[in-house]
Amino acid sequence: MMDLNDLYREVIVDHNRSPRNFRRMEDATRSADGHNPLCGDKLTLYLKVNDGVIDDVSFEGSGCAISVASASLLTESVKGKTVPEAERLFATMHALLTRDDATVDVAALGKLGALSGVREFPARVKCASLCWHTLDAALHRQSEPVRTE
Ligand code: ZN
Repeated sequence: MMDLNDLYREVIVDHNRSPRNFRRMEDATRSADGHNPLCGDKLTLYLKVNDGVIDDVSFEGSGCAISVASASLLTESVKGKTVPEAERLFATMHALLTRDDATVDVAALGKLGALSGVREFPARVKCASLCWHTLDAALHRQSEPVRTE
């Protein structure tokens, strides 16, 4: 029996090794850039939004295993969601990553729950949260690049 931490580690390793939706999107309707100078993580997130639904999502960039895995997991989880649903997920993930006392049902998050492990490593929290802030910026059509500092 693998314990939950082993399972979470496997998810991070798998998504770093083969990131999902890792490509440039030429016909994106929204995009945003994110940069975490603390670690050197950089990414561009692309969204194709039609009638308020995220039909497609992809990212490109480079960074540490946590930042890449988090972005890969993000693309899997917001595809097909409405904009308000994606905004709610951003709020949930932000609480999960930054608040020890967050009343987040980690089990209900499925694979995204794997990111909860970074709370034990404060220096990596920004690596994991970068793509989520970038998603928030893209949803709100912010033109300023996101910086975690
Ligand atoms: Zn990083």
